[in-house]
Amino acid sequence: MTDPGGGGAADDINAPDETDPNDGDEIDSADRDETGPTDREYVDRAIDLAEEAVETGNTPFGALLVLDGEIVAERRNETLTEDDLAAHPELTLARWAGRELAADERARCTMYASTEPCPMCATGIHYAGIGRVVFGVAGETLDALTGDVVSIPCAEVIRRADGDTAVEGPIAEAAAMDLHEAVYGES
Ligand SMILES: [Zn+2]
Repeated sequence: MTDPGGGGAADDINAPDETDPNDGDEIDSADRDETGPTDREYVDRAIDLAEEAVETGNTPFGALLVLDGEIVAERRNETLTEDDLAAHPELTLARWAGRELAADERARCTMYASTEPCPMCATGIHYAGIGRVVFGVAGETLDALTGDVVSIPCAEVIRRADGDTAVEGPIAEAAAMDLHEAVYGES
């Protein structure tokens, strides 16, 4: 329903359903201009998933995929419990999308992540052709706490790949960092 809006590629595909021709302008722009409650709610859900990852013995990362206004998949980090260094939720979701969704659906997807996707995941997101990514806190900010983040910005990876994925964030820095500090920080 809410058009993800950001990505150029996604916009073309996503247009079909405009019922009112001219009159909806005010409502439309109001909906669109807010990076909005909706984005924030989804990122908050991703942070909840990150918290659940910790509860199951993993590090605090979570992500989900929204297609046409509905959550179609959610993942928690599983690097420790699966003994798999690539089991980041964003990469797992990108691979899932590659298997389960058509290319045009992937282009209409927004991935919400508790923390900015790392370069490995950003590349997977690009290969999957996900239309948009929104994240809670920047990798660089987490790196200041942990010192072990490969803090090449997700947007930079997409740009260098000449990709179409729109990247937005950080939009929930305090909430996302609260969790990281609880896990990594010393009090
Ligand atoms: Zn990653």
